[in-house]
Amino acid sequence: MIELRTPAEIDEMRAAGTFVANTLTELVAASQVGVNLLALDSLAAKLIRRVGATSCYVDYHPSFGAMPFGKVLCTSVNDAALHGLPHDYALKNGDVLSLDFAASVNGWVADSAVTVIVGTPRPEDVTLIETTERALAAGIAAATVGARIGDISAAIGELSRAAGYSVNVDFGGHGVGRTMHGDPHIPNDGRPGRGLPLRAGLVFAIEPWLMEGTDRIFTDPDGWTLRSLDGSRAAHSEHTIAITDAGPVVLTAR
Ligand code: MG
Repeated sequence: MIELRTPAEIDEMRAAGTFVANTLTELVAASQVGVNLLALDSLAAKLIRRVGATSCYVDYHPSFGAMPFGKVLCTSVNDAALHGLPHDYALKNGDVLSLDFAASVNGWVADSAVTVIVGTPRPEDVTLIETTERALAAGIAAATVGARIGDISAAIGELSRAAGYSVNVDFGGHGVGRTMHGDPHIPNDGRPGRGLPLRAGLVFAIEPWLMEGTDRIFTDPDGWTLRSLDGSRAAHSEHTIAITDAGPVVLTAR
């Protein structure tokens, strides 16, 4: 079901957006060589408790998940593309780390992801991350009243393919509101001029993710982490945005 939010409700959602953005900023700063993924998850849990927020992940148990997620943060390292389950792993120099975080504040959810390089970057990883960020920016720029979902999808897909990446559309953007995942679905590739017309009051996450090699993924034995089939590295960028008559508003801007 597509739900439209009033301007007052969108204002209420800003608290969740700001909390998620600030948490990611703290997590990025903490993502140094030698830091354990479990410590990053604990830091996120501490920040959730401090403001009385609610994790969207800890009890999350969708049809594709083997068991409830059990952590409050997704940490996807190197060939892990999405849904990385934090585990006992100390970050190494040159690792590509995607942090995906969603929480509810005062009953409203925000969802955002950022990818960083730990320590010394490899040029191809910098390009990969910059491309997901440019794809996200292109998707957001296309999210205007009167455009359609397909315009967002096409903007992301065209930019990604022009940069030399293939695009997997198994997972994409989604409506965000009282819960983390709602309608509409926003594929990371598609045809312009198709799909739901965008109206003021729509709130959703846009989340391009790319892999350096294949567009195929598989599920790690942990039951959650999605990895590239060929071991190539992945990056993920996500913001929760609100469609308004004045243009898209990025609720999770850092
Ligand atoms: Mg997310």
